[in-house]
Amino acid sequence: KQEGRNTYRLFRAEMHRQDHRRLALETALRNTAETGEGLAVHYQPLFDRDSGTLQGAEALLRWHPFEFGPVSPGDFIPLAERSGLILPLGERLMQLVAAQLRDWRTAGLTPPPIAINLSARQFWQGDLVDRVKALYREYDLPPGQIGFELTESILLDKHQQAVGTLEALRSLGCRLAIDDFGTGYSSLSYLQELPVTTLKIDRSFIQGLGENRGSAAIVAAVTGLAKELGLRVVAEGVETEAQRQALSRYHVNLIQGFLTGRPVDAATFARDYLSQLKA
Ligand code: C2E
Ligand code: CA
Ligand code: CA
Ligand code: CA
Repeated sequence: KQEGRNTYRLFRAEMHRQDHRRLALETALRNTAETGEGLAVHYQPLFDRDSGTLQGAEALLRWHPFEFGPVSPGDFIPLAERSGLILPLGERLMQLVAAQLRDWRTAGLTPPPIAINLSARQFWQGDLVDRVKALYREYDLPPGQIGFELTESILLDKHQQAVGTLEALRSLGCRLAIDDFGTGYSSLSYLQELPVTTLKIDRSFIQGLGENRGSAAIVAAVTGLAKELGLRVVAEGVETEAQRQALSRYHVNLIQGFLTGRPVDAATFARDYLSQLKA
């Protein structure tokens, strides 16, 4: 019994420590949302599977608060979503990406389309389309220079209302991808009603290729469906040559993963991927 009580006390102490950290993180994140300090964007390249040419990049938020050292997106994005801070942080990310794109273009580089991740709260924010329009205008970006990635669950909820927003974004030339495809409870029939351009197969299925039949079956089904619907397919989380080989028999257009390129900061991205495209 005594031991039980000690365990309980330890448990309470641990809970307390975690609450404390969460609170401290949230305070720091609020500060970052206000000032932008400690925020950066990394870019991960997407390549055409067959030609190997650069076709795009995904913008990924990085947070390095002064008080803590780097915090992974897996930790701070959920916190940002719960607290609502994802709105100001997402706005900062869009401004950072757009400014970066303008700088690259001014320097004579030709950046490919960059995809930005949108959380549900951002997507359902009433003025998303106006913000995106303003961004294109303010930074003088060509149509399609910025696109978006959304998860299935966002679109599933109220998908009739989603269609209007997606169509408005499409009319700006934005590519629209469904992220982590296959992990949600897809009723696949809704796909044909959504004006999206791209499916990103979740990396869990890519990593399962060659390891279990289930993953191969899902990759075959998803890519077959995408082909029928005329959608581009991105395989994400490709880490090994064997995985890339295994993908060659499916309808896969683009490869994204540590095998072909990790997320890197803007300067590294320009040096490694953009300079050879310089006019
Ligand atoms: P995601 O959108 O699925 O992004 C892909 C994640 O997979 C990134 O993790 C990327 O670094 C990682 N990754 C890429 N290739 C490989 C690979 O070959 N192997 C493995 N193991 N991982 C790979 P990251 O940057 O830690 O981001 C995690 C998640 O946080 C993202 O998942 C996304 O849901 C969210 N996130 C990141 N940036 C933003 C943002 O600006 N806004 C929103 N709303 N969410 C974001
Ligand atoms: Ca994504
Ligand atoms: Ca993903
Ligand atoms: Ca994900």
